Amino acid sequence: MADELTHSARPHAMSSGFPAMTDLKRLVRTIPDYPKPGILFRDVTTLFGDGPGFKALLTQMTDRYRGTPIDAVAGIEARGFILGGAMADRLGCGFVPIRKKGKLPWRVHAEDYALEYGTDTIEMHQDALDRGRRVLIVDDLIATGGTAAAACRLIGRAGGEIVGACFVIDLPELGGAAKLRGAGIDAWALMQFDGH
Ligand code: AMP
Repeated sequence: MADELTHSARPHAMSSGFPAMTDLKRLVRTIPDYPKPGILFRDVTTLFGDGPGFKALLTQMTDRYRGTPIDAVAGIEARGFILGGAMADRLGCGFVPIRKKGKLPWRVHAEDYALEYGTDTIEMHQDALDRGRRVLIVDDLIATGGTAAAACRLIGRAGGEIVGACFVIDLPELGGAAKLRGAGIDAWALMQFDGH
């Protein structure tokens, strides 16, 4: 039996206690052929929408970094904002938004990254970090790692030091987390899913 939701299934409330990682994985909805044929879209809104599940998710994601000096969490638009703001609060540090092109109001650093067809751009304020600030990157999912690698370049250009990059989901077949680790970044995800 699949250990994840299909697009027609509805997440159920946790019966009792503290949801384990396997339960959290069941709260991720999988939507086949979205946004295009062949893609299994891993939808974390069903996990975010479950009160005990969201709380357990944040606890497990922040626990890994307790005791690590972190000055800021950098969240990647948009689901990385939902995670990153809550994680920054729990870790007692600042939050820095990494946004899609054209959204930030002040001077920005910009980095392009490859999509399957063409490129996209993410940006960060040039003055978002003081030199040497220790930064944890957060997003919902790592696939090819192109987005996270571009976020690493932005933080490097701003003078920040990358403590790690964390995700709810890794798709290991696409190799992104392995690529980051190969570049010396401590990349970590709470759960993994097969496929694309
Ligand atoms: P990548 O740059 O290839 O690592 O892609 C990561 C970004 O694309 C993240 O911001 C994800 O939210 C999104 N993404 C890529 N693949 C999926 C997928 N199968 N399901 C949900 N989101 C995805």
